[in-house]
Amino acid sequence: MTISILAVLFLATILALAVFGFRAIIRQGKAKEDVNRERCSICRTQYNSSQLVERQVGDYRILHFCQSCIISLHSEVISKN
Ligand SMILES: [Zn+2]
Repeated sequence: MTISILAVLFLATILALAVFGFRAIIRQGKAKEDVNRERCSICRTQYNSSQLVERQVGDYRILHFCQSCIISLHSEVISKN
C-alpha cells in the first residue's frame, strides 16, 4: 500500500515537472517574439518594429512612430500652413 502511494506521488511529481518545463519553453518563445515589438513614442501602442518609423534623437534616444501618428502629425503641419 505504501509503495503504491509513493509510486503515485512520484508520477505526480514527474507530471508537474513536465508541465512546468513545458510552460517555461512556451514563455521563452513569447519572449523571443517580443524582441521585434516596439511601442510608438506618441500613442504608446505596441507594434511590430517593421511597422514603425525609427528616428534617433540626440546621442542615444531612439523614438518610434506608428503610421496613424505620422498621418496625424502630417495633417497638423498641413493645417498650420
Ligand atoms: Zn502612434
